Amino acid sequence: MVSRYALIIDPASPDDPRADFTSTFAEVDPAAPALSVGELSTQRGDGIFESVGVVDGHAQEVQAHLDRLAHSAEICDLPVPNLEQWRAATALAAAHCGPGESVIKLILSRGVDHGPAPTAWITANPAPDFTAVRVRGVRVVTLERGYDSAVPARAPWLLLGAKTLSYAVNMAAIREAKRRGADDAIFVSTDGIVFEAPTASLILRVGDLYLTPAPSGGILHGTTQLSVFAWLEQQGLATQYRDIPTDELPQADAAWLVSSVRLAAPITEIDGAPIPLDAEFTARLNQYLLSPRD
Ligand code: PLP
Repeated sequence: MVSRYALIIDPASPDDPRADFTSTFAEVDPAAPALSVGELSTQRGDGIFESVGVVDGHAQEVQAHLDRLAHSAEICDLPVPNLEQWRAATALAAAHCGPGESVIKLILSRGVDHGPAPTAWITANPAPDFTAVRVRGVRVVTLERGYDSAVPARAPWLLLGAKTLSYAVNMAAIREAKRRGADDAIFVSTDGIVFEAPTASLILRVGDLYLTPAPSGGILHGTTQLSVFAWLEQQGLATQYRDIPTDELPQADAAWLVSSVRLAAPITEIDGAPIPLDAEFTARLNQYLLSPRD
């Protein structure tokens, strides 16, 4: 059993030159209270996070997660994170993960109401067992996101493209998908363009081409999707980012939801239409995703 671990971080400025950040970390009991009741992350969901997959103590794609943390901070007007400090905290948390799969969460919140500084912390926990879903797959339904595909450019205050702590809508979408007899959802725009799943990116295979919705500000740029595209390209396979109209979904020859902890879940059905499951390819894909990746 992997031990649970939590570290409160005293955020350093991005130009802090020190090589050793140990004195900015305070290990806390993950089962004991650690945050103030004035914390804006809990009051308003005002903050950002990253979930990093860990396999046998190796934190996967750390740089990509740190880059996205910095990108989310910029969108949310949060102080620029010191990425070397977060890298060191991630390494400490990874050292507390045992064999098997774990998840490290990096969290940066606006801080305490009227307080002087943001609050930052990191946790490590055993990951849920996703072995079955990686083989058996998921049935998905499309759900309206409630805005058109041009909104991200028109309304940056919606913080689309940032991985914010405000996941209540995403969780509600998964519950709605379950009410409709499916396992997961794919968000679509009011003008019929595919976005992403509530906690994963979408990859489709059409003929010999692997495609994913263009991350043009409305969706998160998934670290797993980036890694999968690099792996596909290494094998000489064709990849593409583009706007995908909703009515193209049933034409997919195969499809996956990909994310850092669940990894690749093959999609077996979209809005009731069956999608072929390529078991051999999916097994190879998950084998790759479980191998050490930097
Ligand atoms: N899109 C959303 C909304 C997500 O929440 C996530 C992951 O949690 C992803 C995409 C996939 O991102 P990643 O592959 O970096 O985990």
